[in-house]
Amino acid sequence: MVGQIAYIALGSNLGERSETLEAALAMLDECAGISVLRVSGMVQTAPVGGPDGQGDYLNGVAEIEMSLSPMELLSVLQDIERKFGRDRLSEERWGERTCDLDILLIGDLVMDTPELTIPHPRMHQRKFVLAPLNEIAAEVVHPVFDKTVSALLADLN
Ligand code: ATP
Ligand code: MG
Ligand code: MG
Repeated sequence: MVGQIAYIALGSNLGERSETLEAALAMLDECAGISVLRVSGMVQTAPVGGPDGQGDYLNGVAEIEMSLSPMELLSVLQDIERKFGRDRLSEERWGERTCDLDILLIGDLVMDTPELTIPHPRMHQRKFVLAPLNEIAAEVVHPVFDKTVSALLADLN
């Protein structure tokens, strides 16, 4: 495939978290126009920002190669989230969820529309994103801050 490299953040804090993330990765790899190239280890993190009483998250990052447009990728990710029972309309912001798939980076693309912001607007503030991303993409440069992932992680620490 001649495609672009993109990074996807995976998160789950409800149900069989690790099975869910494994299955989500398999579904992603089976999509036409997407190959999963590498996957970080999964880290357990306490929830941030949402309502109290949620379970811990399992978080990780995958590197993919894809020949889809950014909006096509978002729609594929949202289809997979729905297969795990996610229903955004009945959810609280940052509430618990079986499966959250966010687009972190797509090459050096920068875009900001109501549906999609790339790079993900909060990735640089999140250790649970930067630590797994650093495992598989330490030297990748964030196109807005013009810093590597490892430098962004060092800034947080
Ligand atoms: P956060 O974005 O802080 O991680 P979240 O993942 O819980 O929060 P969701 O409910 O999954 O938020 O998504 C809310 C909306 O964010 C989606 O409907 C989607 O249109 C939009 N969105 C904007 N940029 C992105 C992105 N880079 N990746 C995924 N969704 C995005
Ligand atoms: Mg998210
Ligand atoms: Mg999301």
